[in-house]
Amino acid sequence: MKKIAVVTGGAGFLGSHLCDKLIKEDIKVICIDNLLTGNIINIEHLFGNENFQFIKHDVTNFIHVPGKVDYVLHFASPASPIDYLLLPIQTLKVGSLGTHKVLGLAKEKNATFLLASTSEIYGDPEIHPQNENYWGNVNPIGPRGVYDEAKRFAEALTMAYHRYHKVDTRLVRIFNTYGPRMRLNDGRALPTFINQALHNEEITVFGDGQQTRSFCFVDDEIDGIFKLLVSDITDPVNIGNPDEITILEFAKEVIELTGSKSKIIYKKLPIDDPKVRQPDITKAKTVLNWTPKLNRREGLKRTIEYFKNLIANHK
Ligand code: UDP
Repeated sequence: MKKIAVVTGGAGFLGSHLCDKLIKEDIKVICIDNLLTGNIINIEHLFGNENFQFIKHDVTNFIHVPGKVDYVLHFASPASPIDYLLLPIQTLKVGSLGTHKVLGLAKEKNATFLLASTSEIYGDPEIHPQNENYWGNVNPIGPRGVYDEAKRFAEALTMAYHRYHKVDTRLVRIFNTYGPRMRLNDGRALPTFINQALHNEEITVFGDGQQTRSFCFVDDEIDGIFKLLVSDITDPVNIGNPDEITILEFAKEVIELTGSKSKIIYKKLPIDDPKVRQPDITKAKTVLNWTPKLNRREGLKRTIEYFKNLIANHK
């Protein structure tokens, strides 16, 4: 009998790629999404597939899924800084009430639970690169805190269910990930810069652009997450690409790869914007035998193609 996975946030960027991966691994998928920031277009190709089912539901409310469930993967949440600034209460609710409901489902079904956690739990980090033993530097009352603290609470609740209810749990700390199905308008640097470059508009670098990020292509990220799911590692694991770049250099790379005439302009740095970010992936390499494969230029070329088509089809 096939294994069955519930994916919350399954119509989102990462969630939809995860649905694809699970189905490819011969696992049936029940995708739950309230379509707040997710998009049905991301899972359109799966409708009609006998191994796929979609339920439109807000996971902060009680979740009923009939029958057996083997895996529960909690990916529901607004996930870009603009999204969680616009949706602060929903972000806090899905990380707290939502995680509670989803953990309850995993406990009821005796399923393995995987939480999509984030590099944001490290906040504006004082150690670099960030390894899993670092506790983080988060401003609980800042505008970004709604996401960071919701995810930190979600990790704490996951560990409590693991220790007290003996639920089999996994914690993946996801670093900046990009690729097809990102929203052009989610406000993140990568889709924003590509969109601006493709329209020969000014590229908006925040601050002096010396802050760093490390971008991982979505296929690599999903591969790492799946490896963690089927492992027996209950401690947190960073999954990301350590290839670090300043945002200014990144803007220049996007201009070059798109052949754009765009100029760079500078705008105010958002509050609590992390100055550096780079995953230490020693643990993932050692315990999961995982390492990212696709380099950024190649990944960017594929993503630029995706956005080009998206823009062309909307005209
Ligand atoms: N950023 C930028 N211009 C934009 C959007 C973002 O310079 O139009 C900066 C942002 O301030 C941050 C970095 O790019 O330093 C990455 O931001 P993003 O929103 O992609 O995600 P984050 O890694 O901060 O969650």
